[in-house]
Formats: sequence, C-alpha cells, structure tokens
Amino acid sequence: MKITIDGRAGAAALAALRSRLTGVLPGCRVSAARGGFSVEVRPPVSAGAALPVLENLPGVASVSVSDAELCPLACARDRKPFSRPLNFSAGRPVLIAGPCAVEDERLYLDTALALKAAGADALRAALFKPRSSPYSFQGLGWAGLRIAERARKLTGLPLVTEAVDTRHVARLARVCDVLQIGARNMRNYELLKEAAASGRAVLLKRGMRATLREWLLSAEYLLKYGAKELVLCERGDGPGVPGAPPLDLKLLAAAGKATGLPVLADPSHVARDREEAAVLAAAALRAGADGLLIEASLDPLLARVDGRHTVTVDAFRAIAERFRCRKAR
Ligand code: PEP
Ligand code: MN
Repeated sequence: MKITIDGRAGAAALAALRSRLTGVLPGCRVSAARGGFSVEVRPPVSAGAALPVLENLPGVASVSVSDAELCPLACARDRKPFSRPLNFSAGRPVLIAGPCAVEDERLYLDTALALKAAGADALRAALFKPRSSPYSFQGLGWAGLRIAERARKLTGLPLVTEAVDTRHVARLARVCDVLQIGARNMRNYELLKEAAASGRAVLLKRGMRATLREWLLSAEYLLKYGAKELVLCERGDGPGVPGAPPLDLKLLAAAGKATGLPVLADPSHVARDREEAAVLAAAALRAGADGLLIEASLDPLLARVDGRHTVTVDAFRAIAERFRCRKAR
C-alpha cells in the first residue's frame, strides 16, 4: 500500500504519523517512499481492514492499494485448472448451454439431450429468475427442480443454476453442481457467503457496470467463505451504454490474468437477438474466454423469457464445432 502524505504536514506531523501507523497496524512494515510511505501489512491484518484506518489518519492525503493486496485469495493466481464439475483442464472451451429458464418439461429434456449431442459440457438449469418486472415470468421455482434432476440423470451433464436467495442455497446445492451468482447479486454479500459454504462450485457473474476490483472483491468473498471451485463470467454492462462494447473482453482477460481463475463469457444477455448472441459468443472465444454460458433451445420461440436472444441448438452446434479446439477461428 502506498500512503501519500498531505503536502502541508510538517516533519513533526510525519514522525507522529509514522509511529501511529505502526500503532494501528501491528507488525506492519513502514518504509519511506516518494511523497509518503509504503506500508506492508502482515496477517492477521488485511489491506481491506487497514484501508479505512489509514485513510482516516491525520496527515494522510490518499492511500493506494493494489488488487492483489485487497484480494489475496482471488489474486493467488498460482492455482491449477480444475476438471470437476466443469473441465477446465481439457484445453478447449467449456460450454454451458440451455434455455434461460427451465420451463416446459418435454422441451427442456429434449433440448438437454440435443445440446449434449451438440457438444455442451453442462446445462443451464435456472429455476428462479431475477426479473426487472414483478409481472414477468419468475421461473418455475421448486416445481422445476424435478425436471432439472431428470435432465441431469438423462444426460449425465452437470447443472448450473442461479441462486437468488440465501434460503434457496442448501436445497439447490443438493441437486445442482454449480451455483450461479447473477449480475444483480454480485454485490449480495450474504448470498455470496452462503453459496461459498454450500460445497458446490460457484459461477460468479460480473455485476452490470461493476469494476474489475468490485468483481475481484466478490470473488474474494467466495474464496474466503469456502468456495473451492470458482468460475468468473463476463456478461457485459447491459443495454444502453453508448459507445461501450457489448461484452468487455478486455476486462474478461484482465480478470483471468489477475486471478488465474477460468473466465467465461455470457454472450446472451447483452445481445439484441440470437444472431448477435452467436456473433458475440464466437468473438469471446476468439478473445480467449475459457468457455461460454449461453442460452440455447430446440425451440427459442416457445420461451417465456429471453427467447429473442436464445440461439437454436443448430447455432450452438456450429459454435461448438468451430471451437472444438482452442485455436479455432
Ligand atoms: C442468467 O444467466 O440467467 C441471468 C439472469 O443473467 P444475468 O445475471 O447476467 O442478468
Ligand atoms: Mn436469460
């Protein structure tokens, strides 16, 4: 951490500040640096805990902290790729596909089988949908669990489901392999703690307009509270951000580099239609995304939610075949 000193502070104030630093941060190492001090905190004090204390000391103009100092677990980087429940060690993109929500049983099961045959590695299996309008379809809820379970048995594919409420986590975790934290809930810290402690892998979306640091901090919550397998997912900032790319592929790459965690792209939710979703999917994979979370169905026109940008199974198969090995174009 770098502490910049208020230019008006005199020598006595600086000496007092230096001794207060060691007082409020036991065990820290303070050395002189240009314009102030460089401070290395030592466990059990964390940079996150130290920051508000330091900012509040008289004579301090500003404190700068790196992502790695704030998020030591998320930025550990030296982790090995994992292979279960999603296989990130096979050297090819991991493709999670399925309709936005579990709806009609027959269509969901047929779609699940068709997606498996087309190259899907896991199924989207959302039962609870966080919708902007309270009048929109909210998902089948627990009534859909049995359908998801059937799809799992039928295909042998792992299920990825969104947890929207701490009270749902344990029951979802009994059946589903990966708990998804949606964009709206990236900052729902109690939900992050609960999902982390579930024993299941967690897929963490970047919240709309969240910075890399905010995303990393949410990942840090998950790792601190027990998540063993963690996957990040870039889904863009939502419609209506003029001039911004639909998916932030630079940020996606930066998150992968900072953490060593797999980073997926969700090309569906920022796409205006299914053609654009397919184009964004290919662009994300070309840019180095470790896989996709993509909405796909045998019959997108029947969907009660997000049908417009849901790709057909044929379109999904075309993507899967094109990117069967990492270097595909
Ligand atoms: C989803 O993937 O089902 C979803 C709701 O996406 P997001 O949280 O990115 O809006
Ligand atoms: Mn959707």
